[in-house]
Formats: sequence, structure tokens, C-alpha cells
Amino acid sequence: MTVPAADQVAERLAALIRIPTVTPRDAGPHDEATAARFAALHDALRTFYPRVFSHDVESIGRAGLLLRVPGAAAGRPVVLMAHQDVVPVPQDWATEGWEHEPFAGAIVDGWVHGRGALDDKGALVVMLEAVESLLDEGWAPAHDLYLLMGADEESYGACATEAAALLGERGIVPWLVLDEGGAVATGAFPGFDGEAAVIGVSEKGIVDVRLTVEGLGGHASTPPRESAPGILANALARIEAHPHPAAVNDVSVEMLELVGGRVKGPLGALLRRASSLRGVLARVMPRLSPELAAMVRTTVAITQLEGSPAHNVLATRATAVLNLRIAVGSSVAEAVAHVRAVVRDPRVTVEPELPSEPSPVSPRGDDARWAAMLEAVGASYPEALAIPYVMLAASDSRHLAPMSGATYRFAPLRMSRPQREAVHGPNEKVEIESLGRGVAFYRALLTSSRLG
Ligand SMILES: [Zn+2]
Repeated sequence: MTVPAADQVAERLAALIRIPTVTPRDAGPHDEATAARFAALHDALRTFYPRVFSHDVESIGRAGLLLRVPGAAAGRPVVLMAHQDVVPVPQDWATEGWEHEPFAGAIVDGWVHGRGALDDKGALVVMLEAVESLLDEGWAPAHDLYLLMGADEESYGACATEAAALLGERGIVPWLVLDEGGAVATGAFPGFDGEAAVIGVSEKGIVDVRLTVEGLGGHASTPPRESAPGILANALARIEAHPHPAAVNDVSVEMLELVGGRVKGPLGALLRRASSLRGVLARVMPRLSPELAAMVRTTVAITQLEGSPAHNVLATRATAVLNLRIAVGSSVAEAVAHVRAVVRDPRVTVEPELPSEPSPVSPRGDDARWAAMLEAVGASYPEALAIPYVMLAASDSRHLAPMSGATYRFAPLRMSRPQREAVHGPNEKVEIESLGRGVAFYRALLTSSRLG
């Protein structure tokens, strides 16, 4: 085996899609059926990639795998990440708009269809194909290479936190981490039709905030002037009326200016001046779309509400959960303080839960790791414009980012707008031609002289 043919990569991806590795939402050990599915996936991986799996493999958390390919030196370890689990599909998938059975791994007209094709088994396969083919050629990494394959990314699981703790205990400081996140996107920016390799160089933080109001309860025929749900509703209305302050961070300025270089007309001219127009952009962007708003500020989503258990009973307690995504440059403390200041009502208790700070911003410019990323993009998608961005969603890599020199979030797979929308939705699919380019990306990255 040398460089694998894209068709062969597609066959293997389809085989992995046929093993529905859905991790249940709740924490704790896997049930028997789930454990059996992950075991089947591990068997398939060992069969497809014998050279990769001839190295030390450790079990991490519920069904995670941490594998080490020793390098000539241990000093600048590289960690490549891809998760094995996928999100569930509805029972009546056909009526939800799936053209092909989600776990059938159909290969039709140059595409591989099914749950996980993009998120994240596509990236998992091209990563492993690249390493397997290089090992087959007698290659060895200059420094230790770790492959971290989580098994509960989609249910906020512990594989990545456990792996981070384990590496920390052993004194291993990752020099470069690469995980899912951006992709080779088309149709991502107005006025720019070309391909953009968007590479996440940071990601927003997350915290849930629980608001609680205690009431006296009682019969619905004699309600008090102010009820627990009423007080809570006023607090929620104030929160939505007072969004967090908006600011355009350095990464977004870089991104807008790079895109501006490829956009014609007045919009292009405007984008190319992004750094001197930060104030204007911070005011305008939130009005244009929820996505642009999320780029410039900490966002608050009211996700859960609870009041009385019956239609004729007063609530003794009303609760709401807010899901905050914290802007890079801000912090959990600052975000929660804003909520408290806006609520300004001692009857409403404000409790943060499961906080996770925004990730540090990884190097760009002429840093060797960033340069290696750009060269690997150039080797696999020569037409694409590589740009840094701040990831709005969360990835497993946020657990490693605080201890690592550079953490990038990028899957070297082409994703059009409909394909991006199919991640976690119906008709997830990947182009076979893009799988071949994905293998080329990882091969170029791993053999880069900059990683020597
Ligand atoms: Zn994912």
C-alpha cells in the first residue's frame, strides 16, 4: 500500500458509517449494545490500519483510543484528533428528508452518504489513511505523534478531558494539536465564490447559567401580584434586551481582510479596511445575521424553562437555563457578571454551571506550525484561500488547547453550504474526490520539514 486510491478510502469510510456509534446523552459507562458497536468499530479500524494499530494503544474513557507513534525525538509532540461517535438520526429518517438510509453507507455517483460522513468519520478515515500509507513507506515522525480518537464528543463526554489529564500527568506538552472545526468551505462569505480553507485558531467558551426564582405556591384561584414565573420572565426579557458588548477581535479582522482581498467592489474595499473599521463592524455585524452576531460577542440562548407542574397550581419555583457562548477576549466571570448586572433582582439567583473558558488564540503569521498548515492546504487544495477564524461551536480540542502550543480546528474536506447544514441534519455526505485530497493534506502536514 502506498497512497490509497480515493475509491478505497470511500469503501472504508462507508464500512465505518455502517457501524452506528451513537453515544447516549447521559454520562456513565456504555450499555452493552453501545459498547459492542464501539468494539466493532475498533475491530474495523485495526483491520484497515494494521501498521497504525501496531503501536501502543490506550483506552481512554468510555471507548476512546489514544495511540502513540514514536518519533526520533519526544520534544515537540503532535496530536491529531478525530472523534468516533456520531449524533443519532430520527427513527423515521425517510420522512425527515434522508435520501439514503443514514447508516447504510451508500456510495452513489462519487459521494459517500450517511451519518458521520463529515462529522467526524470522514476526517478520522483520511487521518488514518495518511498515517498508514506513510508508515507503509517506512516513514517515521520526527517527533512523537499521538492520535486521539474520542468516543463521546457529541455528548460533552470525558474522553478528551481524560486524555488531556493523562498527557499532563506524563509531562507531555503538545506542540501542535489538530482537530475538527473548519473545512474547505464554499459559499461561506458574501461576494466570494471560491474555496476558503477556514482554520479555527480559537473557540468560544461555554457556560450554562441557571436562573431560579422561589415562589410561595398556592392555588391558582388566588394568585399573588408577582409570581415566580413572572419575575423570571422579566429577568429573561431584560437579558434579551441587553446583549453583551460587541467587539471585533484580531482573528476576525485578519479573516475579513483576507476575504476582502478576493472580493470585488465596495464590499471588498470595506473588508480590506477591517482593522480601521472595528467600531463600525461591531455595530453593523450583529444586525446582519445571527452568525455574524455570534462572531462579535458573547451570545445568550435561553434554552430551558420550567414552572408549575400543573395548569391550576402556582409555581413554587421557576427556573430558566441560559446557554452562553463566551467571546474570545472575554471570560466566564465577565459573562456571568454581565447577566447578574442586567438581571439586577435579588429574588433571581444566578448560578453558573459547567464553565469552559474561551480557548487561547493559536499562532499565525510566520509560526512554523501555521506555515505547515498553510503548505498542507496548498498541497491538497491549491485553489483554496486559507484563513483563520474563531470557531463558534465547541470541539474536543478545547480540553487540550490550554496546555498546547498551537491548536487548529480544521477537517481537510470540502463542504458546501448544504453539506455544512447536513452535519447533525439529514443527508450528510462527502465527495469521494475530497477524501483523496484529505489524505493528501495529512500526508503533506506530517511530512512537512517545519515539523522536523
Ligand atoms: Zn464533530
